[in-house]
Amino acid sequence: MTASDHRKMLKQLEVKPSKKEKFLKHNAPKKRTTGEALKKCRLCGRTGGHIGKYGLNICRQCFRLNAKKIGFKKYM
Ligand SMILES: [Zn+2]
Repeated sequence: MTASDHRKMLKQLEVKPSKKEKFLKHNAPKKRTTGEALKKCRLCGRTGGHIGKYGLNICRQCFRLNAKKIGFKKYM
């Protein structure tokens, strides 16, 4: 049982409430104050290629896909 983001795991455990309770008791992720794991893409959860500028907080791949929708004009 591994997942890049623990929220994905919780979605799987919705069907099994007792297992979810146990999971939250023993495997709740540590609250981070620093480090790379703090900067996650809010669309896909990726940690690499993070763009935090202008409060975007998305990865470069998601930025490339959504730049026009967000309102960036000078991006091919
Ligand atoms: Zn992303």
